[in-house]
Amino acid sequence: MTLHPCLSCGACCTSFRVDFSVHETEDLGGSVPRGLAVEVTEHTARMRGTDHARPRCAALTGQVGQRAACGIYEWRPSPCREFEAGSEACNRARRRYQLPPLDGPVL
Ligand code: SF4
Ligand code: SF4
Repeated sequence: MTLHPCLSCGACCTSFRVDFSVHETEDLGGSVPRGLAVEVTEHTARMRGTDHARPRCAALTGQVGQRAACGIYEWRPSPCREFEAGSEACNRARRRYQLPPLDGPVL
């Protein structure tokens, strides 16, 4: 069985700022744990760590390019749910870590 490429990657979780509506945080009825989100504005929250000079989402576990997992997979915010493995943005993130591009969308 081939492992899903995300399980040995994590590049997107260490490349992009992850912003979403404050309504996705658990405090306002959503699912994202409060300790992992920072409030940016009245309307916007951000995954902690993703706006650092060297971004790394606080929910990411493992080592990029080797073994990676989202510590809040079931509760992750919408940008993470919508991010497509094999997309242009995915391959851009992978390139930053010298990981080979994926050949089209991966489910
Ligand atoms: S979506 Fe792409 S960049 Fe993100 S973990 Fe999966 S393979 Fe890596
Ligand atoms: S919440 Fe999970 S999927 Fe989203 S950036 Fe953080 S580690 Fe990655």
